[in-house]
Amino acid sequence: MSFVTGLSCRECGRRYPNQPIAGCEDCFAPLKVEYDYDAIGRVLTRESIESRDASIWRYRELLPIDDDPRVGLATGFTPLIRADRLAEAIGLKELYLKNDSVNFPTLSFKDRVTAIAVNKALEFGLSAVGCASTGNLANSVAANAAAAGLPAWILIPDNLEAAKVGATSVYGSNVVAVRGNYDDVNRLCSQIADRYGWGFVNVNLRPYYGDGSKSFGYEIAEQLGWRAPDAVVVPMAGGSLITKIMLGLQEFERLGLLEDPVDTRMFGAQAAGCNPISAAVKRSSRDIRPVKPDTIAKSLAIGSPADGYYATGVILDSGGWAEDVADSEIVENIQLLAETEGVFTETAGGVALGVTRKLIAEGRIGPDERTVIAITGNGLKTQDALTLEPPQTIDPRLTAFDAAVGALGLTA
Ligand SMILES: *Cc1c(COP(=O)(O)O)cnc(C)c1O
Ligand SMILES: [Zn+2]
Repeated sequence: MSFVTGLSCRECGRRYPNQPIAGCEDCFAPLKVEYDYDAIGRVLTRESIESRDASIWRYRELLPIDDDPRVGLATGFTPLIRADRLAEAIGLKELYLKNDSVNFPTLSFKDRVTAIAVNKALEFGLSAVGCASTGNLANSVAANAAAAGLPAWILIPDNLEAAKVGATSVYGSNVVAVRGNYDDVNRLCSQIADRYGWGFVNVNLRPYYGDGSKSFGYEIAEQLGWRAPDAVVVPMAGGSLITKIMLGLQEFERLGLLEDPVDTRMFGAQAAGCNPISAAVKRSSRDIRPVKPDTIAKSLAIGSPADGYYATGVILDSGGWAEDVADSEIVENIQLLAETEGVFTETAGGVALGVTRKLIAEGRIGPDERTVIAITGNGLKTQDALTLEPPQTIDPRLTAFDAAVGALGLTA
């Protein structure tokens, strides 16, 4: 049973039946999935949601697949961690981490979008799936395609972290490194999708794929006791996730699932070395000027963001803001998060925390605001970004250990 009534153009409103399609044939704008909210409201309640599995599929009526899901069954419902030690360190009273660094199966928020796209590819009977990726999407498409028994074609820029490349190839997918940046890779994928008729998750399956990210917003609200937070800080690459978190909160309000109306301000986070969306917000503009990425935050290195126009809209309309941080701050904040909360995030998480601190310093997020930081990826994949002290090496004798402890000024 599906509550999807088709697709519509985000600009001209033209309607389309369900199909793999990249954008509007008339005006080339992106498409969105349309739902029958009245029908959903008759079946979806807090009780029905709470009675289901701890995964994205507990919000099944609000996700765009027709049949029962066949892959990604354990994806989502990641922990929302109350972060009191970090809150104290950065000057907030009530801070939470939405921790998608432990998402299933590939340790990033991309497992949410891929779960939808690969099931959709199965429903459409497509012969293969693929993606243009900055790394995490590659991991997730490769894993879910393997589980679905579909061949996968994964195109990546040729400068990605070794851990992200290895964690793609291992699933037996066809990995192609392209001499160029993400924007070059993405353009090539559009041409391949047209020629071969495969399902590229972020090209011709994009309208469905994007809606997987709504679950990030649903979960935050449910885990806060059916309340929307005051502020959410979200790392941005193409700019889709931040818009879908807001859409998820608004859908919950519309369905009467929340205690209070949504009054959430959305804050975007980028690296200074790739900041086309935050730069537009700082000009109070929705007009994105593309950049050439140069940052260690490779998962966010999209110079020409597909949803930049909509991301700036959500940020400015909600009364939020956006900031960007230098690579050195990214590293510093990966460490701060690890040392205060025991959460090891990738570079995108360092961006999100660094930007949160900047927004607090600027007075844009107040100390009393209930704030959620989106931790979207796992630190094990970007260890190259850190230079950590090697462990001290000792002989296997107690006196040697005593000497090591003594060097720190401690005694037994
Ligand atoms: C892709 C990605 C993002 C940003 O997602 P968009 O929807 O493209 O803005 C954030 N964090 C991580 C770790 C990602 O891989
Ligand atoms: Zn159109």
